[in-house]
This record gives sequence, structure tokens and C-alpha cells, in this order.
Amino acid sequence: MGEMTIKKENLMLEENTKRLRRWCEMIHAPAWFFEELKLPKNVYQMKIRPTIRGEKAPMPAWRVHDINPHPKGSYPYKGGLRFHPQVTQELLQVLARDMTYKCAWVNIPFGGAKGGVPVDPSECTEAELRDITEQFTVELANHNCLHAHKDVPGPDMGVNERVMYWMLNKAGDIDTGSPPYQALTGKPVENGGLPGREEATARGGLDALEKYLQLTSMFPQKPALAIQGFGNVGENLARLAHSQEYGYPIVAVSDKKGGIYAEKGLDIPAVRAWFRQNQTLAGFSQAAAISNEELLLLPVDVLMPAALENQITERNASKIQAKLIVELANEAVTPAAYDILASRGIPALPGIVMNPGGVVGSFLEWSRNLGTMAHNVETEQIYEETKRKLRAIMQAPMVKLCERSRAAGWSLDDTAHVIVFEILQEKLRKRHGYKNTCQ
Ligand code: NAD
Repeated sequence: MGEMTIKKENLMLEENTKRLRRWCEMIHAPAWFFEELKLPKNVYQMKIRPTIRGEKAPMPAWRVHDINPHPKGSYPYKGGLRFHPQVTQELLQVLARDMTYKCAWVNIPFGGAKGGVPVDPSECTEAELRDITEQFTVELANHNCLHAHKDVPGPDMGVNERVMYWMLNKAGDIDTGSPPYQALTGKPVENGGLPGREEATARGGLDALEKYLQLTSMFPQKPALAIQGFGNVGENLARLAHSQEYGYPIVAVSDKKGGIYAEKGLDIPAVRAWFRQNQTLAGFSQAAAISNEELLLLPVDVLMPAALENQITERNASKIQAKLIVELANEAVTPAAYDILASRGIPALPGIVMNPGGVVGSFLEWSRNLGTMAHNVETEQIYEETKRKLRAIMQAPMVKLCERSRAAGWSLDDTAHVIVFEILQEKLRKRHGYKNTCQ
């Protein structure tokens, strides 16, 4: 990992903190509130020594607890684990803040957390990845970060059901203080996972988008989409959006190696089959090859970044031609880019509003696991119930977002954060006994 990357991630935390101050000022918050939000509760740096290409390779791993605004001991911290070469402590601090905000947005009673290891899973053998996962599991347990009522990790970028299975299996060797299946989410369905959890982030994003389109008359009800990223979120987005359930045309998709574009719409089942077979989108014959940068600049109805952070920045925000941005990847749009888009009158729905589907799914999985393990014969019924609850939870806050944004003349990003900050201020005041609520 280069020094440049570390500097960039440090800068990201700094920029994020400036933004945090701006939202505090917008609600005239007292000084204590800014300090509460700025300081994470716990930052655990760990060291693991997996065997990589036959040699022990020491590397850092982190778990960050942002804040937990709920009565002490009542609800755990929650947040994904990321395996990606650009993971740094600063990036995880920003992502843990986002977790706090999105839980407040959908009224899910968790504190915000995030964890990760700076490693590229595509460059590891299965044995190496499993070694990294198992050593990280032991460290998480050593720091009390694997416990049904204290900290319940789940998957994020680079971590899938297979990795969650290895964690579950390893946690069974250690006394973590609660049954392992209650302390992890995103597990395979046969191991206590929730039917529908894997697609929940994408499905929740589409449900929230559908509501937004109903509430505004500026866009076609079946808009053409361009999706950046073809992993858990991006591929499920493409699959579901293309299905009869939603029925949106998808004109472009990409992964880290580049993308494809067809003005009249892509045949998504054929694209998925090609991707499965070739592990790349390149060479798909019924579409033109495009770069990730070109995908971001396409003249589409809706642009959905679903890969990684810092994709729409001050470098390209003035060139964006999409009519609406839907942020699925956390922090895909930088603070400066949000301001440029707002000045150009391009609405941008922020990640904290569009991607909480994953944590909603995790909440449903965790709640279920506290009662009993899911029974396989009920799978279809639970899936239908998951979809119904997810839709209701994701769509509920959209009305107040649109109304408040319109009434105050604020961007959707500012409005969503102002609403969340008001909720958090009240909860933290109660929890810690602060007296004043505004200056
Ligand atoms: P993933 O690892 O499954 O997929 C990531 C995708 O991004 C891959 O297709 C990869 O090729 C692509 N990618 C990586 N680098 C890229 C680059 N430089 N340019 C373009 N594409 C690139 O990850 P995921 O779980 O789909 O997560 C994607 C985003 O969504 C992340 O920001 C994550 O934090 C966020 N998110 C995920 C969940 C979840 O439940 N998985 C929940 C909420 C938010």
C-alpha cells in the first residue's frame, strides 16, 4: 500500500470531519455534540501473521467502534468487515461514522462500526484467505468484538458468505461469550443466515429509489441505469433491476477491470453468465467496451456507483451527465463533488439513505438468531417476509427527506444528515445526560 494512498485516506477523514462540523452548524448543535461525533469510542489496531506464499507476513487489522447512542448494553455495535488493499484506520473511521448515520436513518438500534484488513482477496489463494480470516477472527474475539450484545460483524467489500462461514467456524473454537451464529451476520442460509440478506443492500436501494421516483415527477418511472461495480451490491442491483419486479433498463455495468455499454439496454442474464464464465465483463459481444471513468460520465437517467469510495470527485463532478445520482457504495461521492452536483442542480441521493438495506438485513438476521436458528423448510416464507420488511423500512423515511429538502432548499445529502444529526443529538443527550441541546 503506497504512501499516497495513506495520505488520501487521512485527507478523507479530515474532509469528513469538516462536513460533520457543517451539519452540526446547520442544526445549531452545542459543542459537545460535535466532539461526541468526532471521537470514535474504540479503535482497535491488531496484528495478524498469515502465511502468504509460504512466508509469515505480518499485517495490521482494525475494528473501529464509532458511537452507540442506545442505552448501555442494550444493542451491539454493527458494521461490515472489508478485505481490500486500500483499507486504513482512517478510512474505517469514516465508514464506521456512516454506519452510525445509516442505522439512525432507518431506525435500526445499533451503534456504528467497521473493520478490515489491507489485503486483496483476488491475489490470495483460498488457504491464504482462510488463514487471514481465522487470525482476524481470533483477534476480534480477543478484543470483545464478536459478541451478540457487544459487536456483531458482517460482510463488506471483499468479504462474502464463504469468508463469513470461515469466521463462524473459527469462532466456534474460541469462547467469545455468546453462540457464534448470534455474533455474526451475512452467514450462509444453512448456517443461520437470513434468506434475502445477500441481496438486501441492492434490493433496499431499489426500493428507496422507487419511492423517490414516485415522490418526484422529474424522472421517468422506469429510468435507464448505469451501475459501477459488479460485486455483491452491483451484480445484485443489475439482476434485480432488470427483473420483472422492477423492470429498469440497464445500459452500463463495470467492475475494476472496466465496463460495457449498450444504449438500448444490456441483456443482464447473458452478462452475468459471461461474467461467471470469464471472471471479467471484457469481451461481452453485445456491448461496447468502456472504462470506469467513461461509465461515470454517461448521459443516463440514473448513475449508481456501487464499487468503492471517491469515484465522483471535484475532478469529474462538473462533467457528470446523469440526471440523478444514487450512491450505493459508501463515500463514492466526495464532499466537494456533492457541492458541485448541487450547484449544477443534479440531485444525489446519499449512501446513508440508499444503502442501509444491508444493515436492515443484518438486523433481521441477528434478531432471528437471538430466538432460534432459521429452519430450512421456512426459507421461502422468511424470504418473502424479509422483502416486505426491507421495503417498508427503506421507503418510510423518503417522504420526510423529500419534503424537508424541498422546504429548506437543502441538498438531499445535507437534509438526510441534518435529520440524522437531530435524532442522534437527542439520543446522546439522554444517554449521557447532556443538558443543552442548542446554542
Ligand atoms: P464486492 O467486493 O462484492 O464488490 C466490489 C466491486 O467493485 C467488484 O465488482 C470490483 O471489481 C469493483 N471494483 C473494485 N475496485 C474498483 C474500481 N477501482 N473501479 C471500479 N470498480 C471497482 O463489494 P460490495 O459488497 O459489493 O460493496 C460495494 C460497496 O457497497 C462498498 O462501498 C461497500 O461498503 C458498500 N456496501 C456494501 C454492503 C454489503 O452488504 N455488501 C452494504 C452497504 C454498503
